[in-house]
Amino acid sequence: MEKKNLKIIFIVLILIIAACSTGLNIFTDQDEVNFGAQMDQEIRKTPQQYVIYKGDPSIKDYIDKNIFRPILASPEVAKKSVYKYQLEILQNDTTLNAFATPGGYVYVYTGLLKYLDSEAALAGVIGHEIAHAERRHATQRMTEMYGFQILASLALGQNPSQVAEIAANLVTGLTLLANSRANEDESDQFSVKYLASTKYYPGSVKFFFEKLRDDGKVAQRGSGIGTFLSTHPDPIARITSTDQRLQAQGLEIKNYKATGKGIYKDEYKKNILAKLR
Ligand SMILES: [Zn+2]
Repeated sequence: MEKKNLKIIFIVLILIIAACSTGLNIFTDQDEVNFGAQMDQEIRKTPQQYVIYKGDPSIKDYIDKNIFRPILASPEVAKKSVYKYQLEILQNDTTLNAFATPGGYVYVYTGLLKYLDSEAALAGVIGHEIAHAERRHATQRMTEMYGFQILASLALGQNPSQVAEIAANLVTGLTLLANSRANEDESDQFSVKYLASTKYYPGSVKFFFEKLRDDGKVAQRGSGIGTFLSTHPDPIARITSTDQRLQAQGLEIKNYKATGKGIYKDEYKKNILAKLR
């Protein structure tokens, strides 16, 4: 191997180490959009694992128009014109979860919709999922796990399609990597920021966890909550940090039992819950 090549490889390795240790990301926004589109296709053709909700279409329309789009309209959502923000409902009444893929595809399970009891609670979760896409958490983790391998092989001039190959494997296996605590915390923080410009109570990201706690579900591993807990660690700590965040910003601390301004329980019952049954 020529000396010049070795030097290039050395520089690339240094860059990778720097990237991995500072939370940088070797993927582009276009990669995010491509990954998301691939995963969405995969989800739609894997009915044994993911079933698209085929009930009353007005539910999705309602959530999209009244919750999803207004959150995206927040000036804090920076990539709304870059990513393909899209909402989908997945049919599974026992899964209390939601997730986002790179590039802005957000999926909410009917189990979660049935469990929540206000538009604010759903808005908090959706804001959180939008933040995972905006903050590029999935590709950040992919960089940490595969960045070295990808960049090293690119630097060696081997297999320039390796990025695509690795991504394709992740997508095909639908490997939804567990979110780190730091990512979860950042998404909660951004949910509060995004909701600040909507009609919803901005701290509502914690409502879901508060309800889980009061229902004694946090300690349970089975029956739908298991997948949630495996991808969303430590819900109790997240209630505390959200409360601290709200207090620091001088915002009122309300819990999921609150009614009145910014909560929208009756609307949730009428437009979502009643139609899901
Ligand atoms: Zn999350």
